[in-house]
Amino acid sequence: MLEDVIQLDKKYYMNTFGDRLPVCFEKGEGMRLFDDKGRTYYDFLGGIAVNALGHGHRDFIAALKAQLDKVIHTSSLYYIENQAKLAERLVKASCAKRVFFCNSGAEANEGAIKLAKIYYYKKGIEKNEIVSLDKSFHGRTVATVAATGQEKYQKPYRGLTRGFIQVKPNDFGALEEAVNEKTAAVMIELIQGESGVYPMDKEYVRKVRQLCDEKDVMLIFDEVQTGMGRTGYLFASEMYGVEPDIFTCAKALGGGIPIGAVCACEKAADAFEPGDHGTTFGGNPFSTAAGLAVFDIYEREGLLENAKSMGEYFREKLDALKEKSDGKITEVRSAGLLIGVQLKEEIAKDVFNALFEKGFLTSLCGGNTIRLAPPLIITKSDIELFMKNLESILEDM
Ligand SMILES: *Cc1c(COP(=O)(O)O)cnc(C)c1O
Repeated sequence: MLEDVIQLDKKYYMNTFGDRLPVCFEKGEGMRLFDDKGRTYYDFLGGIAVNALGHGHRDFIAALKAQLDKVIHTSSLYYIENQAKLAERLVKASCAKRVFFCNSGAEANEGAIKLAKIYYYKKGIEKNEIVSLDKSFHGRTVATVAATGQEKYQKPYRGLTRGFIQVKPNDFGALEEAVNEKTAAVMIELIQGESGVYPMDKEYVRKVRQLCDEKDVMLIFDEVQTGMGRTGYLFASEMYGVEPDIFTCAKALGGGIPIGAVCACEKAADAFEPGDHGTTFGGNPFSTAAGLAVFDIYEREGLLENAKSMGEYFREKLDALKEKSDGKITEVRSAGLLIGVQLKEEIAKDVFNALFEKGFLTSLCGGNTIRLAPPLIITKSDIELFMKNLESILEDM
């Protein structure tokens, strides 16, 4: 079957992903995925920080099936019970005052950028620049690529949306210099995920908040990856003790069903008025049923606490392995279950491949860092199994 799928893909699918890892999954259960040959893989990437509940979670699937039997989509012309209730859940659990649902992380960031701009537009203040950070990742749409501080994503699309500038992360002086009277928003990831799990310093984030207050600039946190419990907190902003004006989330929000959210705290909450923004699919009865089920299951199973304690346990084990790795592990960076294991450059690709050979799904980012973002249902024994395999792989390198 795999060979057939590869042939079809190569012939009919746009070549955006090149040679993918040679596997095609047929079924999932908890931390595990099974391919067409019945081989088992352990999912330490969680579909890139999406499958927070793992695969095939029974209560989650039951909630989805129940909603399928009722109604899937009705459009934004009508009131939607699940949408209103999911908005309430997000507001009650964060600094948000109002929420807007869309379908992806990039789309949520687009909404956040529009919201920041329209707030000033309506006040008659001309502000249309957005300052973001080098090595950031905000999505693949034209505007979010302009916000993404990585040459490789921007280069072919030059003539991008104007008004975006990037500065060095964790360099407050650089940011202070870039912010001027035209700046509508500063947009940052509290932990840069895609470029290799690089956390911002607490002091830096605190100063950025202060600067935004002083200069009347919106502070946007892109919590597409760090949100929904990934760091052991529902949102990473809690870990930093700093509230944004707008934040976005997506990845884990629907447990695998596509949904994104633009969340506005006090200042920006009422800037969108009828006609200013919209969506066909965003927040439909089905995707918001998924979001509600995710919240219910987090609560029932204590998944935030689990993410925190398993994140600490994983970190201890990785730090210990680093100590005895002969410099093969050069740094471990993590917050909860968002973990970057930085390796000696020459061995990183081989370690990544060896993990895959042994059935451990991870991702290689920034060229030298293995990123782990496992489901929040992970247990100590899953972590021990991973560590045993990583240790033996490193011994052979
Ligand atoms: C994944 C990601 C995005 C993009 O989300 P999509 O759903 O792929 O559009 C944006 N920002 C961050 C921080 C991400 O990790």
